[in-house]
Amino acid sequence: ESLVNPIATAEERDAEASVRPKRLAEFVAQERVREQLEVLLHSALRRGTPPDHILFSGSPGLGKTTLAMIVAAELGGGLRMTSGPAIERSGDLAAVLTSLQAGDVLFIDEIHRIAKPAEELLYSAMEDFRVDVIVGKGPGATAIPLDVEPFTLVGATTRSGLLTGPMRDRFGFVGHLEFYSGHELAALLMRSARILGVPVEQDGIVEIAGRSRGTPRIANRLLRRVRDFAELRADGVVTLATAQAALKVYDVDAIGLDRLDKAVLMALVSSFGGGPVGVSTLAVAVGEQPDTVAEVCEPFLVRAGLLARTPRGRVATPAAWRHLGLIPPPSANG
Ligand code: ADP
Repeated sequence: ESLVNPIATAEERDAEASVRPKRLAEFVAQERVREQLEVLLHSALRRGTPPDHILFSGSPGLGKTTLAMIVAAELGGGLRMTSGPAIERSGDLAAVLTSLQAGDVLFIDEIHRIAKPAEELLYSAMEDFRVDVIVGKGPGATAIPLDVEPFTLVGATTRSGLLTGPMRDRFGFVGHLEFYSGHELAALLMRSARILGVPVEQDGIVEIAGRSRGTPRIANRLLRRVRDFAELRADGVVTLATAQAALKVYDVDAIGLDRLDKAVLMALVSSFGGGPVGVSTLAVAVGEQPDTVAEVCEPFLVRAGLLARTPRGRVATPAAWRHLGLIPPPSANG
């Protein structure tokens, strides 16, 4: 399992829960979204009505689930959690909706993956707090309207472009989460270290932050691994030297590339002269699935300015050559 994959593993859930901020004031960075949410939630509390439905969009590991839990905590209501792929039949969703209590938050992760019939049921629940449950089949089928208590839907999506128009229109608030700066991740890691009781030095934390790809989930994961290393091989303190030694062992380089990322770049420059080359050819060259290369490696390599997508294939940028300790050829531009 890659240490820099932004998606959580099942075993990681408990470790993540221990450092998860519980209230808005503890949520690090994302000032704009935080301030807008604060106004939305506190004005709703003053009026005594549920706030508009809320959509959070952004890459995995940036804090969407955390914010959904915070919304429920700030509103003082209950929280039900499910996900688009988990809602297989609209009847399942109707059961959840009709069991909500007034003021509850219903969190649907990966809401862009919800099945069509369930999505339509959700529209009427969101808009009119009502669902029509179909009983029976064929000509004898009847729709029984059921009331839904006033609730707030919190949806999360990594791909807001895949959301249907009618769905997007039913959210009164959309919060887009951005990648975090190194400075913000350092603040976040300081908080995590305090909660975990890990002794740290500032430059050790800054080192981990700089290798975390702008992603809180990766930052917290690297902190846990560096702590293990510090306890076993050093004096338990996360110093700069310990962080560097640990991350060398774990194969996460100075800007957060792991072995596969580096292999992809190396294949691109050494076997294909820097490209352009198709992603599946590149995947074969490193012995990986094309999906893994396209979905796990590529987004960050592009964001880091090391890889460019062109109509004719993937191209290594001059920065990529330099990162590998090579001199970019005159043909590499960008
Ligand atoms: P997502 O749902 O977007 O994939 P999560 O909300 O599960 O991401 O966050 C991943 C991990 O990062 C959690 O452990 C969470 O506590 C932590 N985290 C995310 N954003 C922040 C933040 N702004 N401040 C503190 N911790 C954060």
